[in-house]
Parts: sequence; structure tokens; C-alpha cells
Amino acid sequence: MFIGGLGRSGTTLLERLLGELPGVVPLGEVVHLWARGVLANEPCGCGEPFDRCPFWREVGERAFGGWPRGLAERMLTLRHKVDRTRRILAVGHPDLAEYVAAYDRVYSAALDVAGGTVVVDSSKHASLAFCLSAGGLAPRVVHVVRDPRAVAHSWRRTVARPEDGRPMTRWGAMRTSLHWSAQNLALDLLPRWGAQVTRVRYEDLLADPRTTLTALATELGLDGFLDLGFLDGATASLGPAHTASGNPMRFAVGQVRLFHDDAWRGGLPAVQRAVVSGLTAPLMTRYGYRGAAA
Ligand SMILES: [Zn+2]
Repeated sequence: MFIGGLGRSGTTLLERLLGELPGVVPLGEVVHLWARGVLANEPCGCGEPFDRCPFWREVGERAFGGWPRGLAERMLTLRHKVDRTRRILAVGHPDLAEYVAAYDRVYSAALDVAGGTVVVDSSKHASLAFCLSAGGLAPRVVHVVRDPRAVAHSWRRTVARPEDGRPMTRWGAMRTSLHWSAQNLALDLLPRWGAQVTRVRYEDLLADPRTTLTALATELGLDGFLDLGFLDGATASLGPAHTASGNPMRFAVGQVRLFHDDAWRGGLPAVQRAVVSGLTAPLMTRYGYRGAAA
């Protein structure tokens, strides 16, 4: 399963919640595993540095006989060539098969090591979902959308990365709007290449986690695994997850309160709000955000 959407849209939260279902194995943002895990040795979601995490060590052993730096560097080169938003409409690239084969090995090894049935990659980018689809892996794609005004507010905030304490990337309202439109539009186009895509709104997930997760799991054919015992109203009990990279929320363990963060209503200045609403208007309407009080 591949979770797509623009960053700050709730992709990590959805992955953590799905990851509590029996048989589901959340891997975090595998697209960043090569640079941040293998090369920079940033911590896994379990807290261990990547090279000391027993799960990822075993996955690397099975998939590649370890995690050679040359492999990670090669994957970054391939990503630059084939895994780009601008290449989504182009079909076929001589290096696509090699690129996708490495992901296939990671997913298969992770399923073996975890003893699971479904592996989740929350890499988010439509371009990787396209590569995996065009390369024959046929991932089930879950597309998470969130009100772009809330997303823009989140991207303006200063947040320290738990991995190294450095500030996360910040974007202005215009840049967020353009990325929001590009990523969501690209994910909307995926079915044309044979991908099965299910869309989830962040706001619906937070308003009623149980109903939204039940509907999603049923649509994904995961209803055989449907044990939502980890959910108690608006509180989720999360165990540690071996996520290779992702939003700081990937480190959250224990009782996590699920609340709808709508701080943008008081925090996003009117001018920025107008920029976002203007630039994202067609898709806001498509996803049902137009009627929301501005
Ligand atoms: Zn780990």
C-alpha cells in the first residue's frame, strides 16, 4: 500500500493508525530511506540509529546482503532520473525497472521479516506511486487530502526535526499552494495508469477515526484484519513502528490524542488565506473544501 499526499496532510498519522491493524507493516517514507537511513544513519521510528535497528538490519540482509553505500547512492541517482513529478506523464525509462526492483526487494524482505501481509510505504510523492505502478508493482494507493489553508499554515511554522534538531523546511503560501495542487492533481491522475486510488480527507479521519478507518480498511480489502482495539474514542494507543523516515509524528508511542488541528483559522493571515484559496480553487471545490467557512 502506498500513502500519497502533500506533506503536512496527515499521511504519517494515517500510516501509524493503519499500522496498528494486525498484519499491516508500516515502513515510513521509503523514498528517504536511502539518503536519511543508509547514508545519514538517522534514527528509525523505534529510536535506534538506522544501522542498529534490528528490523532494518534484517531487511537489508535479506534484500541486498546488507546496506551498501553504493546501492543508496545509485538509488539517489536513479531517483533523480526517473522519479520526478515532471516525468509522470512520460511513459517508460530504461532505468525504471532497476529503480522499482530495489523497492520490490525492500517491501518483500520487510513482509518476510515482520511476518505481515500488507506493507505500507508513506513516501507521499505521486511520482514514486507512478514509478511503482508503471514498473508493475501495482500498489494500492491511499490519497490523503487536507484543506490547503491548514496545510499552508503548517508549512509556515518553524518545527525542529527530532532527527537532528535542525528546522524542517518552511514554505510560503504561494509555494505550498502550487505543490498542493501539483501533488494532488498527479495523484488524481494515477488511475489512468491502472493504479487503484482511494481518497481520504484528513478532516474526516480526525472527525471520526473509527468510521473512517473501518470504511477505508473495508475498501482496501483489509476488513479481515479489522481490529480497532487500539482506538478508544479520540485516543489511539500506538506501539513503536520501524519507520525509516517521515514526519516527527512517526516517533509517537503510547496514548496519542487524535484532534483536528484547525489552528490555521486564527493563525493564517487573511492575505495568505486569499492566496491559497485563489491558487487552489478548482481542487478545493473537487475535494469539498469550498463551502468551509473561510
Ligand atoms: Zn527500528
